[in-house]
Amino acid sequence: DEAVYTFMVRIATAAGSLTAAQYTVLDALAQDLGHGSLRLTTRQAVQIHGVAKNDLPALVQRLTAHDLTSLAGCGDVVRNVVACPWPDFGGPRDRVRAMAHLLSDHFKPQTRAYVELFVAGQKVWEAAEDEPLYGEQYLPRKFKIGLTVAGDNCIDVYSHDVGLVFHPATDRWTVLVGGGLGQSQGVANTHAALAHSLGTITTEAVLPVVEAIVTVQRDFGRRDDRKFARLKYLIEDWGLNRLRAAVIERTKRALDPPVPLDWDPETDHLGLHDPKVVGVWLPQGRIRDTATIPWARTLRHVIAQYQPCLQITPQHHLLLVCTEAEEAGAIRAALVDGGIPLPETLSPIRRYVMACPALPTCGLALAEAERVIDAVVAQIETKWQEVGLSPTDLRVRVTGCSNNCARSFLAEVGLVGAAPGRYHVYVGGTVRGTRLARLLEERIPLDAVPDVLEPIFRQYRETQAPQERFGDWCQRMAVGRPPRQDLLE
Ligand code: SF4
Repeated sequence: DEAVYTFMVRIATAAGSLTAAQYTVLDALAQDLGHGSLRLTTRQAVQIHGVAKNDLPALVQRLTAHDLTSLAGCGDVVRNVVACPWPDFGGPRDRVRAMAHLLSDHFKPQTRAYVELFVAGQKVWEAAEDEPLYGEQYLPRKFKIGLTVAGDNCIDVYSHDVGLVFHPATDRWTVLVGGGLGQSQGVANTHAALAHSLGTITTEAVLPVVEAIVTVQRDFGRRDDRKFARLKYLIEDWGLNRLRAAVIERTKRALDPPVPLDWDPETDHLGLHDPKVVGVWLPQGRIRDTATIPWARTLRHVIAQYQPCLQITPQHHLLLVCTEAEEAGAIRAALVDGGIPLPETLSPIRRYVMACPALPTCGLALAEAERVIDAVVAQIETKWQEVGLSPTDLRVRVTGCSNNCARSFLAEVGLVGAAPGRYHVYVGGTVRGTRLARLLEERIPLDAVPDVLEPIFRQYRETQAPQERFGDWCQRMAVGRPPRQDLLE
């Protein structure tokens, strides 16, 4: 007898863009072949959990038929390319997303094994595999790219191996390198890092420069120890100047000096910026019907009826982009009818909270995240209000391990799973996404987290400067232990 294996399939949707028809297929696949829910991720991808091994070919065939792929959703390649999701209808963000799609196409693995395994079901090419960029060994580790427009750090641009910031006024891009929030628990010298500016370049230079960085990492990134195989460790070893020189040598192009970057306080883009766009807040990116709210059914209905374009946000929510304001209004009314809370009705702590899937579907999880997040938020919110603070304008993120998929190291309060039921508690990130949080306590039982935070909340209430946010206050007061790499501000 063969054991029953099930898989999580991650569909790479560059810049989080989906058509209504593609969403309908994903929704149907989750119902037919998965656990019945879709999970949008913090890198704008889509996960379907619980797919039986024997169903994988059927699932991939249906993906392929609708121009969807799981290729580069995982693996030691350039992963799903992230970009600011806001549709500004011909504005700079549309150019940012167009560039994200270009990079995504360019860096997709060329392997035909994917098609042979899952689509054709047999070997269909006789010629040798040709993988011009990745070669025989692919990259030392995963490689993450994110793009945004100057001033809008909704993608947490400093957390990527390569971050690209578009400056519409000058038609140039800032290139950031070496971000990565993961660290390996118990492995000394692994650590989260924020990206540094390598310089600025023209639009024409973006593809060759990013390719040069990727190939430098391919050729020189460590392959003897996966724990140190990310670009950030190569930069640590080489220094920025050597990386810059290597990129210039490969591209034969100069990089202009870095320019200062200023960021607005973060946005999730779910607000009413444009009457043609509907922001749909989703509980941790999960789309499934619950006992009280038919999330999946309601979305299925409005997407089928109004055929909006979809944009997954880097906070695992959804934008429905219509051609007419009336359609968006009708969708909003249908969402309300279905009991789906509009973003503006949520308290800030609830609206902005993020949690990774963790248990039971992530094999790397050391502790719960998605399944406990409601309780965590409720306890922290209660404690915040008990000490006399209001409203609960606090950014909380929880991950099941220090891989940090929900980017807890950037939060004002970040919980990082350390063992079953226990968490490292971090404080002091900023809403601009430019600072790593500080370690407050280690291995705290979940129920004890509010008590750990209480004295800090009290001090904050008593000594905060006007308009000073909790994270900024923690930084000013040097609460907890500073991160190894600090302060881009
Ligand atoms: Fe990512 Fe770790 Fe959460 Fe798994 S448990 S989703 S690896 S942060």
